[in-house]
Amino acid sequence: MVDLKGQYEKIKSEIDAAVVAVMESSAFVNGPDVHALQGELEQYLGVKHVIPCANGTDALQISLMAMGLERGDEVITSDFTFAATVEVIALLGLKQVLVDVDPDTMVMNPEALRCAITPRTRAIIPVHLFGQCAPMEEIMKIAEEHNLLVLEDTAQAIGAEYTFTDGTVKKAGTIGNMGATSFFPSKNLGCYGDGGAIFTNDDALAHRARGIVNHGMYRRYYHDEIGVNSRLDSIQAAILRIKLRHLDQYTAARQAAAAMYDEAFAEVKGVKVPARAERTTHVFHQYTLRLDENIDRDALIEFLKGKGIPAMIYYPVPLRHQKAYDTHDYDDTLFPATDLLVRTVMSLPMHTELDKEQVDYIATAVKEGLAVCVK
Ligand SMILES: *Cc1c(COP(=O)(O)O)cnc(C)c1O
Repeated sequence: MVDLKGQYEKIKSEIDAAVVAVMESSAFVNGPDVHALQGELEQYLGVKHVIPCANGTDALQISLMAMGLERGDEVITSDFTFAATVEVIALLGLKQVLVDVDPDTMVMNPEALRCAITPRTRAIIPVHLFGQCAPMEEIMKIAEEHNLLVLEDTAQAIGAEYTFTDGTVKKAGTIGNMGATSFFPSKNLGCYGDGGAIFTNDDALAHRARGIVNHGMYRRYYHDEIGVNSRLDSIQAAILRIKLRHLDQYTAARQAAAAMYDEAFAEVKGVKVPARAERTTHVFHQYTLRLDENIDRDALIEFLKGKGIPAMIYYPVPLRHQKAYDTHDYDDTLFPATDLLVRTVMSLPMHTELDKEQVDYIATAVKEGLAVCVK
């Protein structure tokens, strides 16, 4: 699905030198590279504070902790996302309220969000799924009306841009009260291990998050609250500093690959290419097709596997029906889009090293497969 080796080969000399420099400095944790990365990300994103941490899941959890949510408070998020988003809600003893997505753009449906608000609702976690922003203008308006906090799950959309109707352009993760991202190797800005970061323009939230990532310490060995240990290694920061300089070019490569796929599938029956949501760019963390209901998806994936092509289902089960999270009574009729997507989505290889020849090979195989894998 990704080609991290091919990408590494092109920046090997820069990366190797940066990693060796960290080893020679012995500043393995919170070294100068972590601090430098923080500043460079703040500048790239146009956000006041970046707080690096150990992974994207921690970034979500620490953000919710910094927001001061209390047991039983309700947090609304999408039913169609990676489990980490809801995992942190459950871990903190908060109540998960899952809502449906838009069937075409696959991000949170603002009408479903509005209907799920109760007097106990405190926060919303919109997920910028597969690389494009949730409808942030609508979501921020609803949040304002009901005095709710907004935490953007930006693990799949770093670098995406959202344009408000007044013309203001903001980067994904810098629109709500806080944003959380992941630097997992396969993410759009990935390191060579685990990593994550929190974004905010709010000084007080930034201060709290900085304390929480480091055992609730605001002064060395004075612990004002219960925190966690969630630090970014200097080696990962050094790698991320180099990859951040290439991020816009990596995004362009993903977008070019997506355009080639789109063209290849334009007239093909049985598949829908990914819809582009309004007012957001798409940074294509995934290129996710929607198959017609009469296509045998499992057979198609097997067919592609036989040709050496990986295809994945992100995600096969709605969160509300996952064993670990199936704890609330949801009315299934409220989730038509999620229930359609879990049955019909299929993601194709998407990365920075895809060329025309590879895309053509994959698209040809998908077309052949579609013709024979019918229920
Ligand atoms: C990857 C991902 C996370 C978690 O990030 P990790 O760094 O793996 O902990 C959270 N939310 C979404 C939507 C993700 O894709």
